[in-house]
Amino acid sequence: MHKSINIQNISNDKINLLDLNPKEIEIFLISIGAKKFSTEQLMKWIYNYNCSNFNLMSNLKKDIRKKLNEKSCIFASNFTEEKVSYDGTIKWITSINKQKIETIYIPEKKRATLCVSSQIGCALRCDFCATGQQGFNRNLRVSEIISQIWQANKILREKKNNSLITNIVFMGMGEPLLNLNNVVSAIKIILDKNGFGLSKRRITLSTSGIVPALDKLSKKIDVSLAISLHAPNDFIRNSIMPINKKYNIKSFLNSVSQYLKFSRANRGGVTVEYVMLSGINDSNENAKELANILKKIPSKINLIPWNSFKNANFISSSKKRINIFANILRTKGFNTTIRKNRGQDINAACGQLTGEIINRIRN
Ligand code: SAH
Ligand code: SF4
Repeated sequence: MHKSINIQNISNDKINLLDLNPKEIEIFLISIGAKKFSTEQLMKWIYNYNCSNFNLMSNLKKDIRKKLNEKSCIFASNFTEEKVSYDGTIKWITSINKQKIETIYIPEKKRATLCVSSQIGCALRCDFCATGQQGFNRNLRVSEIISQIWQANKILREKKNNSLITNIVFMGMGEPLLNLNNVVSAIKIILDKNGFGLSKRRITLSTSGIVPALDKLSKKIDVSLAISLHAPNDFIRNSIMPINKKYNIKSFLNSVSQYLKFSRANRGGVTVEYVMLSGINDSNENAKELANILKKIPSKINLIPWNSFKNANFISSSKKRINIFANILRTKGFNTTIRKNRGQDINAACGQLTGEIINRIRN
């Protein structure tokens, strides 16, 4: 096999093709004697038709199908549990060796967003986040990230649901920039026209600010960026997000500015996420400070009412407070929205993902 391919084998040493980005699939196919153009054919079967059986891939030569069967497989981890919210949001859980990955499907009138996880747990331990409080287990493999989208589309196709995934947000469990290589490979598959074929504006990566990784990202891939800022100064940010002690607001925003310089996916500006915590970061003064630190950065601000979870010591700001805060930002010229909380009744809202077990759908 080609040395540059980071192939993670599953049992019996077969390569799981869901671990490979388009370039790697091409290299693999050539190594088994196929022509370059088979990459497009094979990827279409996998991603456009959700086909995992090589024998059904009628436009691939018989001897190539035989070699594919010998050396590789298409293995997407199953969703093992499902919970549907009154508002149509669905939470799917994948159990792998007793670990749980959560994926959230959010249908809207004109689009359907899938919120995917990039790690099991998170090492960054933000105080207001259930995933962070759970601790870190491990990075997800490319195939485990991709399986979430593959299985979602498969279920939606089987249900003849017209709302196939139109948008992907890396806002599930984990910090995507701490699993940089696998996340970048997964994004290449999502972007590829024979993969999921989504445009870079429809893929959003949310980060709490791992500065060296964000600097690297700008050299690797262009996607929509969302930043978990959540505080208007280092004093407050240090107290709720330990990562700020390593990479402070100034270094984070500098790195974001650099990213925006080359990015075409962020033409409308970066999305600034700001969770509204009563008495902590939600005063009029805080809104003015926030406007001030963002004045040189093209941005849209998304205020997120805080979602509660067990043993957390915060209170969400009131609706009235959030509106006043939003209006201060608007008068300063910022496009400011307030996030609708979807799927709260099934613990599928932002920051509520912990992989807890709900009803089983398959054995
Ligand atoms: N680790 C990345 C990706 C997770 S995205 C990041 O932090 O950006 C999930 C978003 O929801 C982040 O903006 C996160 O800060 C926010 N969030 C976390 N806990 C929350 C909670 N309890 N209520 C509302 N938003 C929360
Ligand atoms: Fe991790 Fe993001 Fe939660 Fe912070 S907010 S603990 S970075 S998942």
